Amino acid sequence: MARGRSPGHLRSATLERLGLRSIINASSWLTSLGGSLMPPEVLAAMQDVSGHFVDMAALNRVAGERLAAATGAEAGMVTAGASAALVLQAAACLTGDPYTASQLPDTKPERCEIVIQKTHRNRYDGAWRLAGAKLVEIGAARATAPWELEGAIGPRTAAVAYVEAPFLCQPLSLEQMVEIAHRKNVPLIVDAAAEVPPVGNLRRHIACGADLVAYSGGKGIAGPQSSGILCGRRDLIEAAWVHGLNYDSPHAGVGRPMKASKESIVGLLVALELFLARDHEADLRRWRAMAAHVVAAIEGIPGVHAAVEEDGRQGPQAVIHLDPPHHAPAVVAELLRGDPAIAIGEGGFRGELYAVMVTLRNGEERIVASRLRDILMGRGAR
Ligand SMILES: *Cc1c(COP(=O)(O)O)cnc(C)c1O
Repeated sequence: MARGRSPGHLRSATLERLGLRSIINASSWLTSLGGSLMPPEVLAAMQDVSGHFVDMAALNRVAGERLAAATGAEAGMVTAGASAALVLQAAACLTGDPYTASQLPDTKPERCEIVIQKTHRNRYDGAWRLAGAKLVEIGAARATAPWELEGAIGPRTAAVAYVEAPFLCQPLSLEQMVEIAHRKNVPLIVDAAAEVPPVGNLRRHIACGADLVAYSGGKGIAGPQSSGILCGRRDLIEAAWVHGLNYDSPHAGVGRPMKASKESIVGLLVALELFLARDHEADLRRWRAMAAHVVAAIEGIPGVHAAVEEDGRQGPQAVIHLDPPHHAPAVVAELLRGDPAIAIGEGGFRGELYAVMVTLRNGEERIVASRLRDILMGRGAR
């Protein structure tokens, strides 16, 4: 592999000392690539607070008020990532009583089941089980009927879960599920970790009647990678505190291993403020133009079909279908092996390649386009 070809902004003394390299990320806010890049204002606020001791309960209470205002919820709190928010959702729905909380996950209250559609099962849903909840699956691989949800809710049901993510199918709408859950007096909890942007999603789930919602702080909001938002009904947020954030309790509960640091809390608040103030339309226009540049660079290469798509995706993307003998996994591997290393998405809706723009810095789309062109023209190996 040729060395020293990387543009200056990809040089990192810290990574080099560790024998690692900076990667151009055209595959979205992936945890495996470091989430997102925090703006300098976020880092400055984190550095500032890191020089101070502070009343952590008061800090997260203040943060909660800001999160509530941003989401339209009654209350909120900063968590150590959306996954930690899911653990706290489950814990809060199981119990808000300190004694019962101290028994989790060994001894559970009678209401300990979370109903989830088979279509919503995903790699993150184990977080709901961590507090001791049992997932009860309903529906078929790609379909659920309303009566299946109605029938599954009983005296053991603690909550109904709803997951929103690219590539998940939604046979029942959020509104429909909220209506059924509430008619049976059960809270509806939402995992919407990677659904922001669009900025409107920050308020949409609460507006639809969801009782607790989780968002990642370190994806599209560009806060610390290990930060998250939990927002929703005040009594349930209070119950979530009982499980680990009530620092006066003699028992640190199931939420304690996932504490948010003062740097994380402040970093997320500043990131959210900047995110809310962004010109989101301008972002969209920029990403569309970048995706169009990638498509234009590879259009017309035999066996390559490329177009800009954005419906149901994380921002406008260059979506590429390949005829044999092109081989998508080989293209992905070659991009990652090259210098600079480039990560693009593979799989998606129909086994396609997709270059995501939301995590690219200005100008990086030109590097992605020319490397893709070289590889697809058979000039990639070096
Ligand atoms: C990323 C993601 C999570 C985990 O979020 P973290 O903030 O990394 O903890 C959970 N659920 C879904 C659907 C996600 O995309």
